[in-house]
Amino acid sequence: MIASVHSACLWGTDGLSVMVEADIQGGIPGFSIVGLPDNAVRESRERIRSAIVNSGMDFPPRRITVNLAPADHKKEGGIFDLPICIAILAALEVIPRDCLDNIMFVGELGLSGELRPVRGAISFAFLAKQKSLKGLVCPATNAREASLSGACIWPVGDLKEIVSFLKTGFPDPMPIEESPAECTSVHRLDLSDITGQAMPKRVLEIAAAGAHNLLFLGPPGAGKSMLAKRLPSVLPSLSQAEILECTRIYSASGRLKKNSIMIDRPFRCPHHSISDAGLIGGGSIPAPGEVTLSHNGVLFLDELPEFRRGVLESLRQPIEDGYVTISRAKRALTFPARFQLIAAMNPCPCGFLGHPSKECRCTPAQVSKYRSRISGPLLDRIDLHVWVDPVDASSILSPGQAASCSSPVQERIARARHIQQARGFLNAHIPERIIDRICELDAKSKNLLVSAVKACNLSMRGYKRVIKVARSIADLEGSPVIRQDHLAEALQYRPELADAESQGL
Ligand SMILES: [Zn+2]
Repeated sequence: MIASVHSACLWGTDGLSVMVEADIQGGIPGFSIVGLPDNAVRESRERIRSAIVNSGMDFPPRRITVNLAPADHKKEGGIFDLPICIAILAALEVIPRDCLDNIMFVGELGLSGELRPVRGAISFAFLAKQKSLKGLVCPATNAREASLSGACIWPVGDLKEIVSFLKTGFPDPMPIEESPAECTSVHRLDLSDITGQAMPKRVLEIAAAGAHNLLFLGPPGAGKSMLAKRLPSVLPSLSQAEILECTRIYSASGRLKKNSIMIDRPFRCPHHSISDAGLIGGGSIPAPGEVTLSHNGVLFLDELPEFRRGVLESLRQPIEDGYVTISRAKRALTFPARFQLIAAMNPCPCGFLGHPSKECRCTPAQVSKYRSRISGPLLDRIDLHVWVDPVDASSILSPGQAASCSSPVQERIARARHIQQARGFLNAHIPERIIDRICELDAKSKNLLVSAVKACNLSMRGYKRVIKVARSIADLEGSPVIRQDHLAEALQYRPELADAESQGL
């Protein structure tokens, strides 16, 4: 007797359809699984046997063959436990076969029959909807993310529960979560934690307004990481579409907490010992890397020159394109990677170059070697460079200098982003061909730009990036045209000038 059940496996952040077939024959008792299963899938035989017996059913001594189709795609993990178990029970005629036709099943079984969460439930729910199936049966702990897809979801706690409603008919599916957008999370970090630092805070605001990449340069202890970590507190909440994208990514990489969805804007700060695969994504079945986990959010690289050069260079594609492509023998896989890069570095190996009171002991050769670990093309892709001075004791102790908190800044940024969204792009992502149309300059600022290009030796990419930053400064003010003062401020934050400042010039 043969029975088949719809299921799915993950490929990147997408679900791929898998049919699970079970055949029961007489003869020497045995249980085999074919269709490129990995060890975890093979071990599901033991979990399924125990789960069936511990749920009060018989596991007959027969010859059982399970096939996972398509046979040429590698299957991994415990996700097939539930569909295999259901297919076997249907082949044994414990449950009716006709009720399995249009339902997708995913879930890992515990020995007692309880269902454990799987990675990628939301992607499977989307797949079920796309294939016009009736819905998805998944572990109760995955139900909330899966329901975001709009598909019918039947959350189940254990094997007994699912068997009883396969025998008696499906209950009403779980109601679809319509608007989870209300941000329940509280960012405990706030800009008011930082005293002084008016200039770096201003640059942080401009970066947040237009999603520009930003580099903090300054001696150790100046507060570069403190500033970077407060960026999420001024960014707007995730939109509904962004919540879906982020939830898919975090679910596929197994980083979603039980019964939750992604509401907070991602903020990732990988250690500088990270590998290429860790940053960009990789593995035999490619898993998303840090650039994808930061999609719609912030990727913070502290101590930038300490990262391996190859790792840093691999950032260039996602910064330009907003996605990464990982090639495998059979097919290439594309992950979204539209993130805002915030980097921090010391000006020299000892860190005190340009420090107001401490002396730098590095030779010019050491300094230039240290700086050269970051290539020109990467630096050129960072729109804003700002010097962070250590805060002197007098300004920390002086009373009445209440630092501004995040919420008014967040409101200004939300207004600026609203203007940009009406144009269709955030300023950092404006396509090249329409920069001149969107970033209109007045006569005076055109002259200023021409002289700046000559004086600072700006590259073509640098030139375009300056205009985009100036657009963000104008948007923060609500000005439709870019005035001379907006452009002058944007020019201040170019690497050509910020570096000169750090050298004490
Ligand atoms: Zn030094």
